Amino acid sequence: MIVKQMVMGMACLMAASCAMMPAGEEAPTATTPEAVAEPAPQSAPLPGRTLAMFTPGPDQACYDRDTLPSTMVVDTHNHFRPFGGAAIPFEETVSYLERTGVLFANVYGIGQSLPFSSGCEYYLDCVGTPAIPSMQNDLANAANLIDYDPETVVLTLSMTFPDLARPQQIPDQIALLDRTYDGLFRWMGEVNLVKQALMGNGHVATPMEAIPEWAPFMAILRERNIPLAIHSDLGSDETPWHYAGLMEEVLRTYPDNTIIWMHMGLSKELTTLAAEEHIAKMQGFLDTYPNLYLDISWRVVPDAYFDTSEKKAAYVAFFNANPGRILTGTDFVASHVKTFEVYEEEVAVNSAILADLDDEAFRRIALGETYFRMLDLPYRAPDICKAP
Ligand SMILES: [Zn+2]
Repeated sequence: MIVKQMVMGMACLMAASCAMMPAGEEAPTATTPEAVAEPAPQSAPLPGRTLAMFTPGPDQACYDRDTLPSTMVVDTHNHFRPFGGAAIPFEETVSYLERTGVLFANVYGIGQSLPFSSGCEYYLDCVGTPAIPSMQNDLANAANLIDYDPETVVLTLSMTFPDLARPQQIPDQIALLDRTYDGLFRWMGEVNLVKQALMGNGHVATPMEAIPEWAPFMAILRERNIPLAIHSDLGSDETPWHYAGLMEEVLRTYPDNTIIWMHMGLSKELTTLAAEEHIAKMQGFLDTYPNLYLDISWRVVPDAYFDTSEKKAAYVAFFNANPGRILTGTDFVASHVKTFEVYEEEVAVNSAILADLDDEAFRRIALGETYFRMLDLPYRAPDICKAP
C-alpha cells in the first residue's frame, strides 16, 4: 500500500526550474547450493497481525502482549536493493515482511552502489572498488512499488542517493524524482556521514565544511516533513568518540530537521564501549536536540550491546525513558543470495529486546506509534490490553 504525500513548495525553493515542476550492512550470506532464492509463496500476514489492527476507530482492539508477537511491526530500515548484483525480487521481499508480521517498512535503496562492470556484489569483497551513492536503486524501488503495490503492508519510499560530501546536486536530484514520482518519496536515507567499513571503497568522512552547504536540500526536507536517516559512526574501540563531532555539527546546524541516527552510532568498529557511557552520550544528544531519533537496527547492536542481562536492562531503561525517540528495523540487504530464513532471523534478533519494554514503550516503539506520528500516517498503534 502506498501512502502518498502532497508535495508543496518545491518550485519556490528552486525558482529556476519552477515552471517545469509538476504541482504537486550486512554481508550477504555465503552462496551455497541450498541458498537459491525460494519462490515467493502466496503469503498471508502473520496470524494475529493485520493492518486492520492499526486502523484507528471505535472498534480498534487492544493488543494482548501475552498472546501476540513481541517482534517489530515496523521495519524502518530495509534495503530492498543490494550494493551490487541481483536483488531479491521486490514481491518476494514483501512476502518476507508479511510472513514475519512486519506491516510497515521503509524501502531503502543503498547509499553506496558498486559499478556493474566490477562484478562486485558486496563492498567488503571488493576493497579498492569505489562504492558511491547513486540514484539507480531509488528509481528501481519506485517503479517496483508502483507496479506491485501490495495491499497487506504499507511501504514508504526513501531517497538513498544523496552524496553528503557533494550536496549541491541534491535539490536537482530530488526534482528529478518529483517529475515522475511526485510525493512518493517520504524519507531520505540511509545516507553516510561517516562509515568506517566503507573506507576501503573510496569513502571518506564527510568534511565538516560540507555540512553548511546542505542548507538547500535540508530546507526541502523540512518543508515536506521528510526525515533524514544518517549513518554516522561514533568512532572505534580505540577512539570511541572520534567522529561524534560530525553528527553534533549536523544537529547543531539543522535543529529543525527530523534526523535519525542509525544504529545509535554503533558499528562493527565500536563493540566494546561501556553501555552506560554510550547511553549517557545518546541521552545527552536526545536532550539537546528534540528532533533527533535513534534507529536501533542492525544485529551488530544486539550482539555487542544487548548481550548480557545487565547491559540489556540498561538499554531497556533507556528506551522506556525515551519511547517517542526510538525506531525499529532490521538493516536487511536484499541481495539475491539471501533467503526468507535470513530475514526472519534479522527480525527476531533485532526485536529481542522489545519484549522487555514497558507497555508504553512497547506500544510506541515495537507497535510503531512513534513512526506513525513522525510521518503523520493514518494509522495508530493499538492500546495494550490490561490484565484483568
Ligand atoms: Zn543500512
